[in-house]
Amino acid sequence: MRKFSRKFSVFLVGAAVFINLAYADNSTERIKNRGVLIAGINTDVEKFGYKNPQTNIIDGFEIDMVRAIAKKILGNESKIELVPITPRSREYLLYSGKLDIVAATFTITDERKKYYNFSSPYYADGLALMVRKGSNIKSLKDLNGKSIGTAYSATSRGVLRDIAAKSGMKFKFFAFSSYSEINSALAFESVDCFAADRSILAQYANNNTVILDDMLSVENYGIASLKSDTELGKIVNEVVNGLKSSGELDKMAQKWGLKN
Ligand code: GLU
Repeated sequence: MRKFSRKFSVFLVGAAVFINLAYADNSTERIKNRGVLIAGINTDVEKFGYKNPQTNIIDGFEIDMVRAIAKKILGNESKIELVPITPRSREYLLYSGKLDIVAATFTITDERKKYYNFSSPYYADGLALMVRKGSNIKSLKDLNGKSIGTAYSATSRGVLRDIAAKSGMKFKFFAFSSYSEINSALAFESVDCFAADRSILAQYANNNTVILDDMLSVENYGIASLKSDTELGKIVNEVVNGLKSSGELDKMAQKWGLKN
């Protein structure tokens, strides 16, 4: 019996050490040891996170924010590794530990807050609709029965589903892995509408398309880290709030031609 209880206490201590190691928040230590902050960013949303095809340089409002966070943690704003993400891949990459943070037009929602720390909002956008010029769709109500392309794992489908439930309208949804695929589907008439945040649609608008006036939601963007990375979440939030209160965030937004 005594032998059994000793074994049991050794097991308990082992389990406690394991749990502690697994859940200890070493997030900023991890980044400092590595010497670089790994951030998931957009490369196809001009002004926010965009890869210039001529220079291959990735830049934008959100990249400036990633730099400010690196400066705070590592004392050097250039110690960043930028990992291109899509709405579909960003949560998986964050969850599997391949990213420290996501700064990529990522809307703060109650559901997502269960899994991630979000900074306070740094930009407010809204869901909008883009259609082909000359199509008879002039506003949301003309979309009844039409097909809509959205990005996988984006908030857009949920917003439109709620609208459908309240209004009695019916939409046919098609999900895509990237915004450029939705844009092609719109151009080739596989879908009647491209639904995404207005700032994203602006990137894809051209002479053959129209962005409708409807703003269907408020999408508050926040910088996310894993819930277990408590310390990192706290620092990220401090940086965002510091940029806000010093007026630096507004200056950054202006630099990129964004109205915050
Ligand atoms: N802001 C949206 C989200 O976090 C993504 C952009 C979109 O596809 O509209 O889900």
